[in-house]
Amino acid sequence: MEVTDLSGVGPKLAEKLLALGIRQVTDLLFHLPSRYEDRTRIHPIGSCQPGQRVLIEGRVEHSAIVRGRRSMLVVMLSDGTGRITLRFFHFRAYQRQQLSAGTLVRCFGEIRAGYQGLEMIHPSYQRLGGDGEEEVADRLTPVYPSAEGLGQKNWIKLTDQALALMRRGVLELEELLPDNLLGQLNLQPLSDALDYIHRPPADADVAALVMRDHPAQKRLALEELLAHNLSMQKLHRLQRARIAPQLRPCPGAEPEFMRRLPFALTGAQQRVSAEVYRDLESDKPMLRLVHGDVGSGKTVIAALAALRASDNGFQTAITAPTELLAEQHFRVFSDWLEPLGISPVWLSGKVTGKKRTEALHRIGDGAQVVIGTHALMQKGVEFNRLGLVIVDEQHRFGVDQRMDLLEKGRTERQQAHQLIMTATPIPRTLAMTAYAGMDVSVIDELPPGRKPVKTVVMSNQRRADIIRRVATACATGQQAYWVCTLIEESDAIEAQAAEDVANVLRDELHGLNVGLVHGRLKPSEKQQVMESFKEGHIHLLVATTVIEVGVDVPNASLMIIENAERLGLAQLHQLRGRVGRGSSQSSCVLMYNPPLGDLSQQRLETMRQTTDGFQIAEKDLELRGPGDVLGTRQTGMLLFRVADLARDAGLLEIIPDAANTLLQHHPEQTEKLIHRWVGDVARFAGV
Ligand code: ADP
Ligand code: MG
Repeated sequence: MEVTDLSGVGPKLAEKLLALGIRQVTDLLFHLPSRYEDRTRIHPIGSCQPGQRVLIEGRVEHSAIVRGRRSMLVVMLSDGTGRITLRFFHFRAYQRQQLSAGTLVRCFGEIRAGYQGLEMIHPSYQRLGGDGEEEVADRLTPVYPSAEGLGQKNWIKLTDQALALMRRGVLELEELLPDNLLGQLNLQPLSDALDYIHRPPADADVAALVMRDHPAQKRLALEELLAHNLSMQKLHRLQRARIAPQLRPCPGAEPEFMRRLPFALTGAQQRVSAEVYRDLESDKPMLRLVHGDVGSGKTVIAALAALRASDNGFQTAITAPTELLAEQHFRVFSDWLEPLGISPVWLSGKVTGKKRTEALHRIGDGAQVVIGTHALMQKGVEFNRLGLVIVDEQHRFGVDQRMDLLEKGRTERQQAHQLIMTATPIPRTLAMTAYAGMDVSVIDELPPGRKPVKTVVMSNQRRADIIRRVATACATGQQAYWVCTLIEESDAIEAQAAEDVANVLRDELHGLNVGLVHGRLKPSEKQQVMESFKEGHIHLLVATTVIEVGVDVPNASLMIIENAERLGLAQLHQLRGRVGRGSSQSSCVLMYNPPLGDLSQQRLETMRQTTDGFQIAEKDLELRGPGDVLGTRQTGMLLFRVADLARDAGLLEIIPDAANTLLQHHPEQTEKLIHRWVGDVARFAGV
């Protein structure tokens, strides 16, 4: 049954659904709520905490249109237990009338801490009759992931119909999990699970649902994780069936490169580069993940692979997820390769006009090494003989993008080798799902002479001490980072905060050169600041988390992280990895805003106790709470509908075996599972 058979679905809506991979009515059933809103209960305003998304009810005390650079409608609401300000930046004049003093209003939205107490920005609201007896919702309200032009009301109408058909047994909803697995895990029937997740009943275990820890969710999560594992395996199988250029040792620039390299490879680097070489020499495309903690020296592995390609007359594309990191690679590779007569091409979204035309021309002409951001993956970038694709920190990319880049090197049967480098220490069970079907090399040794970073945790009440510490360190020729973190999503606000901090520090630390880098600077400005820091002209670099990934200034040996309690472990580890890169003893001050919550305390304590990325990753998986975005951040390519990598860590254990059993005994089910949860994998593989 197709969605067009449902009422209210015309060609336009059908097209929008199709863009989301929804064609059949059953596809709708697998379009699952990403979260729930609890509108079943009215919260006293006085008990609301910032961050909560809640239903409140109160009387308007006054409302006004405040004119400023942007006018805004401001409404003060009170329910006897407390007051809250509602703010509307987009509003119509009549809303002021609607929300005039004395009106009884029910609102749903996120509580925020404003300058004058609690606030809600753009709540959804409903005016109540005089007695306020309107019923609250009797079920949790599902919130569906959506797209432009598709509102929540659409989703409710569509899923209502699909669920009704399912309950009547009209839809063909096939059980795809083998019996033994169902029995072993004591799983409920698929249709029950779907029903529950789309329309949790009034007495649902709300906490479990919100935590994605309900048996109905577990049941679907298992399917989804299996489907991902199977799809990655399939994708990689399809790719391995292709032919890749054999990049054999041959006379070229490599020996000269090794002669010029200012250090000897560590044992781990030698082992991993040998594994990479072996793959490159084969006529099967390499699919290798190089996994090495921050500072373990992955870049040189990439350079060796790129040289092998260029010595064989093939091009290498190197991409990184942020402009800053890509630029840094460009500089390192230019320094290393230019003396060998290879000058890398730079391409990012910000390269435009004549420069872009020139870059594209050189790429099409066969430039040996091309470095850039995701701009490399876009249309219009044509390689001549792409033999190797290197993706750094690929957990930031989607699998789609990696495949887009790969497409550029593909002919009928040929395709480029792929080397993926990640510093995110991924627990083994996770790796087996996220990277199923890839070969993994681990650089498990740091370059010699590194001393583990000493970490201390300090309250921001000791800010003055901390500033003195920076002054002392810089006076003895060390350099330092001061990292400003904000929870605000906005680059602009974050940049402003960093600027303020920089100004204050400039005042307090005269004699020191304080630099500033944030996401709002132009690439050339960023580069200038980084260059000047690298050369030692800047003593203290105030930065936002833009420096998180990959920045390499070995002389920087002190890092202060403000509001460290707000960051997840993975991010703290990445940040701290910017120091401890030289041979002097480095330290890191995790500065927090008291009082510390229990989880934050455990996180900071973990950071204090260990610098081992794997231990930190394990702890991270253990500690991560619901709603924490790290789950998706950590892998990027895995945007799950129900599975939650922290909650479902236990399930991950059984996935590889279950996947193999399915492949061996029920291969036809695997295709259906992939279709149900992931969609058309083959499109990634270009078949
Ligand atoms: P990451 O794995 O985080 O990308 P990099 O490749 O940036 O690490 O290396 C970190 C730093 O260590 C760089 O300054 C690099 O030049 C240096 N380095 C890499 N390998 C070695 C080695 N074998 N001996 C000494 N220094 C090394
Ligand atoms: Mg790196």
